[in-house]
Amino acid sequence: MKIRKAELEKVAVSPDQYPTTGRPEIALAGRSNVGKSSLINTLVNIRGLARTSSSPGKTRTINFYNINNDFYLVDLPGYGYAKVSKEERKKWGKMIEEYLNNREELKLIVLLVDSRHQPTEDDKLMLNYIRHSGKKLVVVATKIDKLSNNELFKNINMIKKELNLTEEDIFIPFSSVKRTGRDKLLKVIEENI
Ligand code: GDP
Repeated sequence: MKIRKAELEKVAVSPDQYPTTGRPEIALAGRSNVGKSSLINTLVNIRGLARTSSSPGKTRTINFYNINNDFYLVDLPGYGYAKVSKEERKKWGKMIEEYLNNREELKLIVLLVDSRHQPTEDDKLMLNYIRHSGKKLVVVATKIDKLSNNELFKNINMIKKELNLTEEDIFIPFSSVKRTGRDKLLKVIEENI
């Protein structure tokens, strides 16, 4: 897929602010600092389209990026930021649930986890939300350039096991620095829009 256009079109905190074009949507979820903004920028080849690591946990909006006037990449607010109040956590959960469970345009959810670490409780909770929504899932393990081949192999198995992934689940090792996994992820996106 060639990216001809990538533009932030809508910033939403509630469903009445979602796009109304009916185009398919691919959502990206992950804890803050997992490398979600970097992945978006790598996918669309625009440095700085999605803001990277400004203040972790601060984005409490659902951002819709118009890609080629064909589909949207939907950046869901990052989770797992320690300094977030209980009240805010609740709001986050409600916003995510509302989007995941009721959005017909949503075709595929990309869950990002850090390839270096065990999935967190929040990662597992997010995966449960996704499973519950019945939407199609891809798991992306980020920052693999920080691992040796040996470590990567070990960690991939560990992550798959921790998240109870099966052979049917698509799993993509990814690096925004080396652009590893970009073509594979774009292909999966293309197949689902
Ligand atoms: P976000 O909070 O999930 O949007 O994460 P960011 O994209 O802002 O990335 C968080 C930090 O990880 C930043 O310092 C990035 O430069 C770094 N980072 C993101 N992706 C990669 C990657 O693939 N490799 C390496 N080495 N660093 C990365």
